[in-house]
Amino acid sequence: MSDINTSLSVSSEELLDRIFGITQDLYSEMSKSDSDAANDHTKIFKLLTDLGRTLVNADRASFWKWDKRKHEIWTTAAVGTGRITIPEGTGLVGKALLERHAIVTNDPYNHPDFNSSVDKSTGYVTKSILVMPVSNCKGEFIGAYQAINKLDNDGKFDLEEDTRRLSLAAFICGITLESESFLDDSMHDRLTGVKNRMGFYNDYKNKFSKILNDENEIHPVSLFICDIDFFKKVNDTYGHNAGDAMLKHVSGLISGNSRICDGVYRWGGEEFIVILPDTGLVAAAEMAERVRSVVEESVCEFEDLKIKATMSFGVTQIDKTLSIEDNVKVADERLYRAKEGGRNRVIMD
Ligand code: GH3
Ligand code: MG
Ligand code: MG
Repeated sequence: MSDINTSLSVSSEELLDRIFGITQDLYSEMSKSDSDAANDHTKIFKLLTDLGRTLVNADRASFWKWDKRKHEIWTTAAVGTGRITIPEGTGLVGKALLERHAIVTNDPYNHPDFNSSVDKSTGYVTKSILVMPVSNCKGEFIGAYQAINKLDNDGKFDLEEDTRRLSLAAFICGITLESESFLDDSMHDRLTGVKNRMGFYNDYKNKFSKILNDENEIHPVSLFICDIDFFKKVNDTYGHNAGDAMLKHVSGLISGNSRICDGVYRWGGEEFIVILPDTGLVAAAEMAERVRSVVEESVCEFEDLKIKATMSFGVTQIDKTLSIEDNVKVADERLYRAKEGGRNRVIMD
C-alpha cells in the first residue's frame, strides 16, 4: 500500500465508514420503486462516482459513458456544469478506452492527451489524473472513471494501488451501465435509430403525461402518426434493402424536422409517431405538413437508385382524459382518412 503521508490522508476506519455510507445510499436509491428511479440512473451514477472518488481519495471524480451509437464519450458529473461531450478516441478518457488500460499522469499539463480547456474556463488546476476503463461482463469497454487530484500521497496517483482500490467502484459501475444500456437498446429501433414503441410508452408515462398533468399551467401536447404511401411497392420494385434505406431516409427527415423536445418513434413497419409538447392541434398540423412536404421533395438514394415517396398523416391534440392508446386511435383514424382521401396529405379533424 502507498504511504499516506499528508494531512489529507484518511484512516482505514474513516475510509470504511465513508464507503459504507455511500453503499447504504446506493442501496436505498436502488430500492426505490417509483418509475423515475427505475428510468433515471443519474443519482446512482453520482453515488458510484462518489464511491470511486472516496476509494482513491481524490478531490474530484467523473464517470464517462461511451455512446457507441453516436461515437462520443460524455459525462454529467465532471465539474457540476452540464453534460460534457467529447468525440470517442480523444482525451485521456478516449485514449484509455482505445488502449484498454488505465492511465495515470501526475503531470497532466505536459501530457499530450490532456485537454486543459475545462481548467481554462473554470480556473481549476488539475495536478494528477487517474483514468480507469470500465467493461461489461463480456469484456467490452463501455465507459471510464476519471479521478482528479489525489489528496494524499504527495498529490500523486499510484497506478497499481489506486486502480486496485477503484476496481470496486468500476466493477459495480460496469454492471449498472450494462443494465442501463440494455434498457436503452430495448427502447430503440435498430434499423432507423429512433425510439420504438416501448420507448414511446416509456416517454409518454415519464415525460409527456407529466407535462399534460401539470397542475400549475396548461400545456397542450399533440401527436401525429404518419405512414409511407405505397411502401409495399418500394419493396416489391426495388427489394427489401431499398425499403430499409427508405425507412432510414424518412426517419432521418422526420427527426431532422423535429425539435429537441419532441419525441420521434417508429410505431411499427413504415409508421412513425411524433409527440409534440407545448403544441396545440393547429401548430401540430403545421409541423406535420412541413414533414409531409420535405418528404415529398426529397429523394432516397440507394445504390444507384433514386427513389421517391410520399407520406400520409393523422394529427390529434392529446385528450388527457383518454388513455394514450385511445388518443393514438384518434390520430390513426385520421391517418386512415388521409389514405382514403388520396394519400400524401395531413388530416387534423
Ligand atoms: P399504404 O399507402 O396504404 O400505406 O400502402 P403500403 O403499401 O404502404 O402499406 P402495406 O401495409 O400494404 O405495406 C407495408 C409494407 O411494409 C409491408 C411490409 O413488408 C413492409 N415493411 C414493414 N416493415 C419493414 C421493414 O423493416 N423493412 C422493409 N423493407 N419493409 C418493411
Ligand atoms: Mg404505408
Ligand atoms: Mg402501414
